[in-house]
Amino acid sequence: MENRQESMRTEAEQGTARAVLHIDLDALARNYRRLSNLARCEVSAVVKRDAYGLGLEAVSTTLAAAGCRAFWVAGVEEGERLRACLPSDSRIFVMDGLFGHAPERFAQAGLVPVIDQPEELELCAGAARGNAAPFPLALNLDTGLSRAGMDEAAFRQLAQNSAFLENVSLELVMTMLSDFEQPANPVNARQLARLKALADLLPVVPLSVATSSFLYHDAGWHLDLARVGSALYGVRSAALPDYNCEPVISVEAPVLAVRELEAGSAIGYGGRRLERAKRAATLGLGYADGLPERFTQTCQAYVADRALDFLGSDSMTLSTLDISTLPPGRLRRGQAVEIVGPYQDVNAVGHALGINPNRVLSSFGARAARRYHPAAPQGDGGAEWISG
Ligand SMILES: *Cc1c(COP(=O)(O)O)cnc(C)c1O
Repeated sequence: MENRQESMRTEAEQGTARAVLHIDLDALARNYRRLSNLARCEVSAVVKRDAYGLGLEAVSTTLAAAGCRAFWVAGVEEGERLRACLPSDSRIFVMDGLFGHAPERFAQAGLVPVIDQPEELELCAGAARGNAAPFPLALNLDTGLSRAGMDEAAFRQLAQNSAFLENVSLELVMTMLSDFEQPANPVNARQLARLKALADLLPVVPLSVATSSFLYHDAGWHLDLARVGSALYGVRSAALPDYNCEPVISVEAPVLAVRELEAGSAIGYGGRRLERAKRAATLGLGYADGLPERFTQTCQAYVADRALDFLGSDSMTLSTLDISTLPPGRLRRGQAVEIVGPYQDVNAVGHALGINPNRVLSSFGARAARRYHPAAPQGDGGAEWISG
């Protein structure tokens, strides 16, 4: 912490008066190894949406170095970015399927589209017709979540005609389970049974259902490939007694000013007035940095182990902290306070706000300035962050 406060001070002096998202890539790699040890199958990494906001390239190259060989992105653009930075034997699944892009574009970059539309399957087969190699793809079947995935009737119709697999190579059949917060919910077991029954209509093909929480449930869910996002990033998306991953992110906000406020001073928007005199720190932290709604009312900030309340409302770039309980001079302009970290991790924040901690992760991830520890192997977003 002290180290980070030192570097933070320098940075604030250099003019970066914004909240910083610290990403611990060593912790990420350790989490991958923990999950691989737990799993009875290969563990693939879900790095969709810029790796849940933590940076596609930095996260994926770190995971590849830790042994990960299969990745899931949302769209073809992310797939191409990933192909440019990963070892050539890595498998990259594109969850949106073709979605209007030519199958040749996937073939060119060695991307495996996840198909849930019969028309897209036909396009892939057509692209491979006359080629020596069949077109690799994965099938996503809807087994009850009713959100994405080929519906059962369409799949059965396809499966009646075994010629539908000509010219394609079926790498994987997957489904998305409904209740990741309660893996033991029988609705999940019904979906698993349904997936297996449908897959029986096909030649033998690898199956995948497990997301983070199912990897902690029991080995019957692991099947051939687990698709893990949250747990890798230190997010506990369900009450999992055996959860053993460590936090990957922390967020610090710089102190821009320390003020002595008299009783009766107006504080922030809306003209609320202080009943008593207070010492306040203005922080470079607002919703434009990813600060979740209601955070300043519900959560605290920390200076070492001291919890501090916010005062008044936050704005796009600023919020105000009550530091009256700290010794005068303890906090100065340019120093940092903890917003997410050892004393209040991403799961505690999610819990306090009553939201899935992934929302906290992706909110800060998409908006706060990122700094990698150690420095990212590939420049993410062009930022040259100092190693800490
Ligand atoms: C996001 C996603 C996952 C990862 O789920 P986590 O709970 O974050 O591990 C897995 N599979 C699919 C299809 C997803 O969209």
